[in-house]
Amino acid sequence: MARYDLDRDAVAAAVDRAAPGAPRYRADQVWEGLYRLRVGPDELTSLPLPVRRALAADPALAAALSCEQEVSADGGATRKWVWRLADGARVESVLMYAPGRATVCVSTQAGCAMACGFCATGQAGFTRHLTPGEIVEQVARAGRDVTHVVFMGMGEPLANYDATWAAVRRLHGDFGLSARRLTISTVGIVPGIRRMADEDLPVNLAVSLHAADDALRDELVPINRRYPLAALAAACRDYVDATHRRLSFEWALMAGVNDRPSDAAALAAFARPLAAHVNLIPLNPTPGYPVQGSPPAAVRAFRDALRSHGANVTVRRPRGRDIDAACGQLAGQAPPRSAGRAPATCHT
Ligand code: SAH
Repeated sequence: MARYDLDRDAVAAAVDRAAPGAPRYRADQVWEGLYRLRVGPDELTSLPLPVRRALAADPALAAALSCEQEVSADGGATRKWVWRLADGARVESVLMYAPGRATVCVSTQAGCAMACGFCATGQAGFTRHLTPGEIVEQVARAGRDVTHVVFMGMGEPLANYDATWAAVRRLHGDFGLSARRLTISTVGIVPGIRRMADEDLPVNLAVSLHAADDALRDELVPINRRYPLAALAAACRDYVDATHRRLSFEWALMAGVNDRPSDAAALAAFARPLAAHVNLIPLNPTPGYPVQGSPPAAVRAFRDALRSHGANVTVRRPRGRDIDAACGQLAGQAPPRSAGRAPATCHT
């Protein structure tokens, strides 16, 4: 098992293999290194050198770095990592800096089975679930200054519920991130939302809505055929009642598809009773979907229409488009290294 998949006893067993008969505090040092300092045992100078060497390979990291890119042209710094897992599957994580916060966006699956046509991950299809350790490792390797984690990378977190929730527990209990700094984003898997409502950690819930009438949502977000809007609204209501957390709805504005005045009216009517906050973002272009993101004037008009209907709304700036790191662009591949791209360090 990989390093961040081990519990304390398994870490102690690994330390014992590396240094038979070592005192118990060695295992505590390794654990503190992994979770408080976020460094591997090989970097822990408090350990004797032979032990560090032995622990560098066992327990090993889950992912090899296949590509790392940075961009600052978009106003904040955005960083993207493409990871190659032990079986060759690739996943991505993105780190976004804003004043006073560093948010890492992690993947929960390699690929995704939800088949939303406008999303690059959905276009690629499903490869496999990630383990809790593979999810947690993305946070650890994003660095020590991470303040917030969003489960909004590749995959559908609630379709990999147990591993996602095990990662939430680790991030909360061992990394020390409070539940209000953790956000799970879902297409709207109703039984998963209900399970979350029963957990004792009230994380933030974001639902990728994109349409507020069933006919359009059936097309854009196919899981809507199984969990239609009325059932989704009821589960959201239960989540808000159980946790008292603010719910948010994600809405990628697609020109001529879901940016009409009637869409704004339907969205406001859906969001208002749940006191949900709407996050608008123009659709990011992906290779497999011919629709354009709504132009800036249409984004403003849609925002104003929502406000006039009494909904709370923020327009989000797409970040990292130039390194294919923006919402919906994660496909587990490094973009072509062409002129004008941010510096990239890629290994295959
Ligand atoms: N499966 C989860 C989490 C991953 S997607 C979910 O659907 O919520 C993260 C967010 O990016 C979702 O809100 C998703 O709908 C949105 N997204 C997907 N493709 C997009 C695109 N091309 N442009 C903008 N947002 C997109």
